[in-house]
Amino acid sequence: MGEEEQQPINVERAGELVKSLRESFSSGKTRSYAWRISQLKGIIRMIDEKEDEILNALHADLSKPRLESFVHEISIAKSSCTLAVKELQHWMKPEKVSSMLTTFPSSAEIVPEPLGVVLVISAWNYPFLLAIDPVIGAIAAGNAVVLKPSEIAPSTSALFARILPSFIDSSCIKVVEGSVPETTALLEQKWDKILYTGNAKVGRIIMAAAAKHLTPVVLELGGKCPVVVDSNVDLKVTSKRLVVGKWGSNNGQACIAPDYIITTKTFAPQLVDTLKNSLKSFYGENHMQSKDLSRIVNSHHFARILRLLDDEKISGKIIHGGERDEKLLKIAPTLILDVPDDSLIMQEEIFGPLLPIVTVDNIEESIDMINSKPKPLGAYLFTKNKKLEENFVKTVSAGGLLINDTMMHFANPNLPFGGVGESGIGAYHGKFSFDAFSHKKAVLHRSFGGEVSARYPPYTRQKQNFLRALLTNNILGVILAVIGWPRP
Ligand code: NAD
Repeated sequence: MGEEEQQPINVERAGELVKSLRESFSSGKTRSYAWRISQLKGIIRMIDEKEDEILNALHADLSKPRLESFVHEISIAKSSCTLAVKELQHWMKPEKVSSMLTTFPSSAEIVPEPLGVVLVISAWNYPFLLAIDPVIGAIAAGNAVVLKPSEIAPSTSALFARILPSFIDSSCIKVVEGSVPETTALLEQKWDKILYTGNAKVGRIIMAAAAKHLTPVVLELGGKCPVVVDSNVDLKVTSKRLVVGKWGSNNGQACIAPDYIITTKTFAPQLVDTLKNSLKSFYGENHMQSKDLSRIVNSHHFARILRLLDDEKISGKIIHGGERDEKLLKIAPTLILDVPDDSLIMQEEIFGPLLPIVTVDNIEESIDMINSKPKPLGAYLFTKNKKLEENFVKTVSAGGLLINDTMMHFANPNLPFGGVGESGIGAYHGKFSFDAFSHKKAVLHRSFGGEVSARYPPYTRQKQNFLRALLTNNILGVILAVIGWPRP
């Protein structure tokens, strides 16, 4: 990246940047299979060669444990890119679809084509994966791309700006660092697609800016992901999967981390005891000293989470944890029992290490409770009761559902990852990423043969009979119309 590009971007420079990317895109080079593959392979090389620097940046931004960074960010990014390399030829192939009698003779196909110049705006909590994964999809689909990493994870953002250009074609793929002013300058430009990851409030800003140019968006937002825990479960396994899903993923700072638990009044004491045991066995007696927990990303988010924790509506309800260390930006894994629905913690996405537990008389009530709130990005159910599972899958509306575990659906690239309603618009991962950045062009091929005079005026009674019969698949009627019966 040249010196000039490292200066903060303003509207004018953003305009020049998009113009130069449009020229590169118009040259046609991003469309070729060879270009796409070489860029994707460049990203794989970057991940392999710079793994240590990536892990260090993630540690600097979030004190993310190295194992967690490797499993949740590096390895997922690499397998996403490897999958794109392996499947690209197949993904790029036009899809033949059947023709209709009305267009006979003809052949029909859907041709995926790149959209053009696209913008990826990413969030801080998985600052490597959430930035590079959409870029992989955009490149696979043959677009020119600008990546705007999150300024809240400055080390990872700076790392992208420094290393990515050495591994990819920087005339078509750019990194622009910056915060609100720089993103606003970018958003003034006309893009062919914007994929944004972050909160819904900013999501609305992104969508409004995109609307000015009729730019389509993918909005990867968040929300409160509920976990329903039935009493008919393997409690030890449930507890371990819950704890690692909540605190083993960035210490709760994950879009699909369990946000709150719903369980029955009678089962809650057993569940709480087992959760406490799992927490102790994973993070020791003093969780604040555990090296296996990320810190809170910054003092703004630290204060935001404490506001939820110190709400007087939940005072006396903290049954585990609650400790905090402002200097180290640490908050202990915390369990809060019987939280009222009007407490702050039940009104906002927590995005931190607090886990409230709501109790109900019958577990079936949980479904109505979930459906009475904005649609979440993910919803989880632990049960051995097949009927409850069936009902949950059929009636709970969320971006994704996972039965008897947390978070793991994210790791399956055959599943689309995205929200619904308040939790997002559109989806990506695997082939869905390719689709998110492609236009599905409808193409019908005809020859000059197969003329049907009934298409053309003057519209006689016979032509009308013929077309009526044809369009209602009435073969006998078609034959009769062709032979001119009934006579006029
Ligand atoms: P963030 O603060 O990093 O913001 C996201 C991006 O928006 C950044 O690149 C930032 O520069 C940009 N931005 C911020 N304010 C802006 C403005 N006024 N105008 C234009 N751009 C602006 O991340 P965040 O919002 O704190 O992220 C947390 C939220 O994201 C949570 O709600 C979480 O659930 C959600 N999230 C969703 C996913 C997903 O894949 N669906 C993944 C991670 C996080």
